[in-house]
Amino acid sequence: MQCFEHKGTDAVGICKSCNKAICMECTISFPKGIACSAECEQDAKEIIEMNERGKRIYGIGQYKTNKLASGVMVWLLLSAVMTSIAIYFYVSKGRIEPVMSAMSAVFIAITVIVYRAAKRTGINC
Ligand SMILES: [Zn+2]
Ligand SMILES: [Zn+2]
Repeated sequence: MQCFEHKGTDAVGICKSCNKAICMECTISFPKGIACSAECEQDAKEIIEMNERGKRIYGIGQYKTNKLASGVMVWLLLSAVMTSIAIYFYVSKGRIEPVMSAMSAVFIAITVIVYRAAKRTGINC
């Protein structure tokens, strides 16, 4: 294979952004790849960055964890707080506070829905 820009010169690799074959002279080297121009280098780095963020969001590879997604954690915390308040009212007043109880039930329901959605999509944030 020959360089896209320099006919007759052997290519040493493929630009990570535009996929053209490039020779030693054309090559801009950076961690995780090579590019044919500054624009392609920028673009390639953005693609790599996007991949990394994607991996982090979906918990792939080194980002794989078993901990709950933070979105789920927030709802879990809100449910716990609401439920605690509802229980506190029940204990201190000797009767069930309907609004607080309904709120905590709704929050628990949302937590379950969010948890199941996070599990299904594999989203990790
Ligand atoms: Zn290129
Ligand atoms: Zn070249």
